[in-house]
Amino acid sequence: MDGLLIGPATRRQALIASACALAILLTLALAAPRAQDVLPAVAPFMPMCALTVFTTSGIAAFLLGARFAATRLPMLGALGGAYAFTAIAVALQLLMFPGVFTRTGLLGAGPHSAAWMWIFWHAGFPLLVIVAELVRTRASDDAVAATALKARTPHGWLLIAGPAAVAILLGLLVTQMDLAEPWRASTAASMPMQPVGIGAGIGTSLAANLAGLAICALNVAAIAVVLLKGRLRLVLDLWIVVALLASFVDAALNTLSIERFTLGWYVARVFSMLAPGVLVCVLVWEVTTLYRQLSEAHASLVRTSARDALTRVFNRSYFDMQFRAACARAAQETLPLSLVMIDVDHFKRYNDAYGHLHGDACLAAVAGALARTLRAGDFVARYGGEEFALVLPDTDAQSAGEIAERARAAVAELMIPAPAATGQITVSAGCATSGATAGAASVCITPHTLIEAADAALYAAKRAGRNRVAHADASLTAG
Ligand code: GH3
Ligand code: MG
Ligand code: MG
Repeated sequence: MDGLLIGPATRRQALIASACALAILLTLALAAPRAQDVLPAVAPFMPMCALTVFTTSGIAAFLLGARFAATRLPMLGALGGAYAFTAIAVALQLLMFPGVFTRTGLLGAGPHSAAWMWIFWHAGFPLLVIVAELVRTRASDDAVAATALKARTPHGWLLIAGPAAVAILLGLLVTQMDLAEPWRASTAASMPMQPVGIGAGIGTSLAANLAGLAICALNVAAIAVVLLKGRLRLVLDLWIVVALLASFVDAALNTLSIERFTLGWYVARVFSMLAPGVLVCVLVWEVTTLYRQLSEAHASLVRTSARDALTRVFNRSYFDMQFRAACARAAQETLPLSLVMIDVDHFKRYNDAYGHLHGDACLAAVAGALARTLRAGDFVARYGGEEFALVLPDTDAQSAGEIAERARAAVAELMIPAPAATGQITVSAGCATSGATAGAASVCITPHTLIEAADAALYAAKRAGRNRVAHADASLTAG
């Protein structure tokens, strides 16, 4: 199905994803030569980005977890784990970052804790995407879902909970151990408001470059694994590659510019938001698509299930439901409700003379003529065989009689030749009305009684010679 995350990617989706990938690489090409250009320092930019990454990663993890619960595809669970890891890692980094909540950072953070958390966050994501690809089922994509559904295991949730737990353990590790400073200037973990350039000694730059290059290499490796394992067949493959590209550009620009508040640093922060953001957009798009498909399918189901296949007017089950509801409404609002039962005269003879196929066409024509006589709010249903029911809310006995007469005349005007005394197809009608008419006391009648009364009137019309309208006992209509 078009739009589904684990469905085959269409040409259009492949083109959109390719355009995004190109835009990402183009931005890298444009930003790289000027990565070290110093821009005005906007101190809240980093916490704002981190909060965005936390929120979008959390949403991506939740949505992927929900998809995993529905499909039990291990790859979805593992990808949910990758985003859960990112959300926790970035939250811990933000809490530990000196100068954001307190001068030295929360959680007993050391001077380098936030920098290490940054490295674990950026290295963990591509690593966990590789894990997700490794747990990917090999079978064809349609069969994947079926086999995975069978393989329900209570350990499946470890795919999400495991990486989340690892992120927490890494947080504990970096706060407990005074790890050597790896990337001082880039994250400015030790001195958050430190002016650009200070502290970026040769040793730290080298460490930063090595860490950055390693993270870049991990992202490239993850892209290669996705390409090899998935071959970009699924919608998910396309967008995971785009997310990994964003993550790669984030790391690359950080490597090119280890100072804060440089062009490279700002653009890198934007790409750190894009990596989870792109998948959230795709997941939300998928939910929207599913919702649209579901509501369309539901509407079409309701339409077809309420209609009679031959005559296209409402069917008996719709009548049963809606007539009951109309009776209840009329009783509640003390309004009259009329029912007209209509039966085709001598229809057996028609069938015998012209055959059942012509009989079917005749019934459809009669139904169409009846439907055309109705007002807004009325409805006609095929009650059974060659019998129809007109339901007329807020209609007193006199108006019902007029509408029934119009319906009878409309059928007569069709002038369908028939082996009857009139020489054409005619109908007889029986009217019954419940509730109050102006100035009269309300009469409470059940749907069943009203049908019986209209039916009795119909047979009175038949006995009186057919091709006419008869009314139920006056005491019923309270008119
Ligand atoms: P009356 O005027 O007393 O109603 O006579 P009638 O011949 O219409 O009544 P009867 O109940 O004897 O016959 C009804 C006929 O309607 C019999 C049945 O074959 C025909 N009929 C019912 N449903 C359909 C249908 O879906 N298609 C066709 N072609 N005929 C149908
Ligand atoms: Mg009949
Ligand atoms: Mg009949």
